[in-house]
Amino acid sequence: MNQPGQGADACGNAISVVTLFPELVQAVGSCGVTGRALDKQVLSLTTVNPRDYTTDKHRTVDDRPYGGGPGMVMLAAPLDEAITQAQACNAALVAEAPVVVHVSPQGEQLDHNLVVELAQCRNLVLVSGRYEGIDERLIESRIDREISIGDYVLSGGELAAMVIIDAIARQLPGVLGHEDSAAQDSFAGSGLLDCPHYSRPEDYKGMRVPAVLMSGNHENIRRWRHRQALIRTAKRRPGLIDSLIEGQKLSAGDRQLLQEIQNTE
Ligand code: SAM
Repeated sequence: MNQPGQGADACGNAISVVTLFPELVQAVGSCGVTGRALDKQVLSLTTVNPRDYTTDKHRTVDDRPYGGGPGMVMLAAPLDEAITQAQACNAALVAEAPVVVHVSPQGEQLDHNLVVELAQCRNLVLVSGRYEGIDERLIESRIDREISIGDYVLSGGELAAMVIIDAIARQLPGVLGHEDSAAQDSFAGSGLLDCPHYSRPEDYKGMRVPAVLMSGNHENIRRWRHRQALIRTAKRRPGLIDSLIEGQKLSAGDRQLLQEIQNTE
């Protein structure tokens, strides 16, 4: 976790999460790629708990909805102050103006392009809701954009915030080693799904590694992998192929290859 007060540009990207469950969010920085990003200080992760900005003895952060109905609504006031604190934490680390995001099933859907865009934003505040959601006036007055991680409803925004943090960390320079560069992943670079991968042993329960991968011929291997990526994208995500063609992202060679693949099926 970062140390507020280190001064502007003390780290690469600063992310502050407003959450009632800071220990849950902090777990994303405890290991793996996100842990490495924090260690290398290309990313900082701070959590701010709205409960710390309540004024009553029960530290109340929610109340019943006006108009009746089930569930509780997160109160605007503690969240308002928590967002201000989250912005202050980030401002101590980076000079860029903050973007305040409410993770919400009603937001624009997260995809690779949005992750790349968010990774370029060096000052990010993620606001996690709980219960039935957040008082709309807080959203109107403090939130810059709303982002969903998919068309389903989670119990809280923490997992959504963690998904966003993990996906951003992979995009930051120096976080991934050369061997697992994000540019080779699905959706990145070519825009296709990734090719299949194999490791030892050569024969696993009678299933053999494709011979080309052991040929040592790098050009043949590159072509085989690209062809596999095209085949699986066409089969699994035909809509992706359509949008790559529309965006003129597929070479004439790729389009011909796709035609050949379709003709042989
Ligand atoms: N009543 C809300 C609705 O139907 O739109 C759902 C509230 S949900 C139980 C509580 C919180 O979880 C939300 O405020 C949001 O922060 C988070 N959340 C739930 N699903 C999400 C999703 N698909 N993407 C991002 N955040 C989500």
